[in-house]
Amino acid sequence: MKNFEPFKSKVWLSSPTMHGEEIKYVTEAYNTNWMSTIGENINEVEKMAADYIGCKYAVALASGTSSLHLSVKLAGEKLYGQPKASCGVLQGHKVFCSDMTFSATVNPVAYENGEAVFIDTECSTWNTDPDALERAFEIYPDVKLVVLVHLYGTPARIDEIREICDRHGALIVEDAAESFGALYKGRQTGNFGNYGTISFNGNKIITGSSGGMFLTDSREDAEKVRKWSTQSRESASWYQHEEIGYNYRMSNVIAGVVRGQMSHLDEHIAQKRAIYERYREGFKNLPVTMNPFDEKNSVPNFWLSCMLINEDAMCRQVRGEKNELYISESGKSCPAQILETLSKYNAEGRPIWKPMHMQPIYRMNGFVTAYGNGRANSNAYIESGKSISISEDIFNRGLCLPSDNKMTHEQQDIIIEIIKSCFE
Ligand SMILES: *Cc1c(COP(=O)(O)O)cnc(C)c1O
Repeated sequence: MKNFEPFKSKVWLSSPTMHGEEIKYVTEAYNTNWMSTIGENINEVEKMAADYIGCKYAVALASGTSSLHLSVKLAGEKLYGQPKASCGVLQGHKVFCSDMTFSATVNPVAYENGEAVFIDTECSTWNTDPDALERAFEIYPDVKLVVLVHLYGTPARIDEIREICDRHGALIVEDAAESFGALYKGRQTGNFGNYGTISFNGNKIITGSSGGMFLTDSREDAEKVRKWSTQSRESASWYQHEEIGYNYRMSNVIAGVVRGQMSHLDEHIAQKRAIYERYREGFKNLPVTMNPFDEKNSVPNFWLSCMLINEDAMCRQVRGEKNELYISESGKSCPAQILETLSKYNAEGRPIWKPMHMQPIYRMNGFVTAYGNGRANSNAYIESGKSISISEDIFNRGLCLPSDNKMTHEQQDIIIEIIKSCFE
């Protein structure tokens, strides 16, 4: 193996990039004492986000997770009516959720006492497989809600999924936390579901250090989310409460950072795309592929560049619940080896999101693949002759590459060489 010097400063997976305007808006908030959950920055970012996405209303919240929670709650109320104050609105109802995603996509279903049923992934976008979703409605015909993610900034096949949901009378909660700025058939993600979410968490394509945005075309829903997010006060001179409330509003200081970042979104997307293409070119002769997208219908925001190692180029790798082992082999590698090697050189990669159906907290939940119930002990699963789901396969063979937009060409070229050396 060639010897490279470790990077002097760490090359991150994806870290915040500030430009200068952010501090101006934060300072404005400070100098005018609008250090609160109301103020000019909040009003402005709501307008900017709604304009950019092309939806009628955007509500600025503390996080993407809080937006997903209130989305799920809104959907639940619409479907099942208002809950008693003490119990979740989804009480016992099943909800179809993307399987390969960050846990924040699906936890809100549990917050509302619903039961997530996970839907397997398709190879062509790494998002919810429409065929598996169709199968899920056959197995669970009563389900009325689908939580759908656009993973790593790549749009899911929304038209197919929308058509299936419409046919079964189901609502869609759209998690565009990672895909702000990505397009599907010319339209922004976050704009397809009944309720949309983007996130301004520190490692997303633009950031407020934290924060999220609820997106909708319904004035009523936007007002409800605004009310719920500020403790559900009724209009009375005292604190009058008819509904459970939350402290989920975005701060005007955070909004100042987001406001400064908004005009740099397209620039960040262009940088991320260049990183993706440089990897794709650099890996041309390796037995790997990049995270795929529907080139005809979608333009990802390329938030994270990922790679998948060909089956026959995988060295042996075993993963337990919390640790892993691999046996290196010439001409082959595995995510564990590549991530370990990157970290030795002071570069940060990350495993693919471990699928939800494999997580201990969701061990007992349903899981549906395109060929039936995907749990290993089910007959359909065994009869299918497939040993693992697509999600698990991508988790085993895939990884997220250093995708920071401040990474230089030189640094990326070295990262490419480091990865090549893993296959020697
Ligand atoms: C980041 C993220 C969230 C949550 O957003 P926060 O702002 O961190 O709460 C939800 N879903 C996905 C897919 C994410 O990557």
